[in-house]
Amino acid sequence: MKKIQMVDLKGQYEGIKKEVNDSIAEILDSSAFINGPHVHAFQKELETYLGVKHVIPCANGTDALQICMMGLGLQPGDEVITADFTFAATVEVIALLNLTPVLVDVDPDTFNIDVAAIEQAITPKTRAIVPVHLFGQCADMDAIMGLAKKHNLYVIEDNAQAIGANYTSRDGSKQKAGTIGHVASTSFFPSKNLGCYGDGGAIFTNDDDLAHTIRGMVNHGMYKRYYHDVVGVNSRLDSIQAAVLRAKLPHLDIYNEKRRQAARKYSAAFVGQPNIMVPKTVNGCQGICDVCDCHVFHQYTLKISNGKRDALVQHLNDNNVPCGVYYPVPLHQQKAYKDDRYNGADFPVTNQLVGEVISLPMHTELDDEQISFITDLVIDFVNA
Ligand SMILES: *Cc1c(COP(=O)(O)O)cnc(C)c1O
Repeated sequence: MKKIQMVDLKGQYEGIKKEVNDSIAEILDSSAFINGPHVHAFQKELETYLGVKHVIPCANGTDALQICMMGLGLQPGDEVITADFTFAATVEVIALLNLTPVLVDVDPDTFNIDVAAIEQAITPKTRAIVPVHLFGQCADMDAIMGLAKKHNLYVIEDNAQAIGANYTSRDGSKQKAGTIGHVASTSFFPSKNLGCYGDGGAIFTNDDDLAHTIRGMVNHGMYKRYYHDVVGVNSRLDSIQAAVLRAKLPHLDIYNEKRRQAARKYSAAFVGQPNIMVPKTVNGCQGICDVCDCHVFHQYTLKISNGKRDALVQHLNDNNVPCGVYYPVPLHQQKAYKDDRYNGADFPVTNQLVGEVISLPMHTELDDEQISFITDLVIDFVNA
């Protein structure tokens, strides 16, 4: 059996080696390292893929989030609501801009932000909601957009983990993750579903004015060279990363389908296991039906309900199966973000999830032998 990896970037590279190498060689020859033609071409190709008016490439997904908030003109003291169960980047940029983070609990089945908890957290100071499309599927965007409209709030989608996922609204219309809110951020960190070979990120929006503001902000607040109209940042996608992304974008749907296939096989093997909860999709289809395209499985995350999660992590590692605990600490308990405003009792789901979740290897190169080996190990151990 091939060695099992959490993410197999090398295996994926083998399949696109010529495209990537040729593209990079072209950039080395042209010396257009920053904002070269590949960056512009990638921007256009991603706009077409997503069906969104504007893609603004930038240096990484964390910058993308920060620039979204700057572009919307959020001011110190404004409250921004986001999930307690996510990667820290979301709350980090809120804090960096001296905005006030307001963390709320998540849904136990989808791991995404709990809409009822958002509604309870809204105050006259609330300006924005940041749903994180965690592990590869959208938060309940119909409900979130409804709340935003009612309370006149901005919605910033953190789409770092769900690029390519579809969201089906209650009225049956379909949109790509990251094109539903007022603005969205994504990351092209190598292990993301669309990853480059270094750092990279982008912002998406359908709002022409906001896109214009943001295009200047990512480049020192310049709209005309050496004329600085607003305080900006230096956050650009370099041409070599754009070239890698151009080679990979045409494969994104296939890559995501491969992840779904692996997820279906995992979930099928765990059917009927009382202590192993498989990830659920928003449509309630369990993510294992053949037609579901709402989940792109950035992570395949189980809940182990009989207290054996930590021992299972050890057992898998002992058997050379990598795994991850995303995330081990609720944000409201992280040293950097602790605050007397938070009451632990308001986060029952997150507090429980941090002790139960385990993410199994998930990437485009997993084969049946590896998946059976992993599922057998998990089932035997959890039931023993
Ligand atoms: C990866 C990630 C980010 C940050 O992206 P970087 O490119 O690493 O800065 C932000 N939010 C979420 C949910 C992520 O998974």
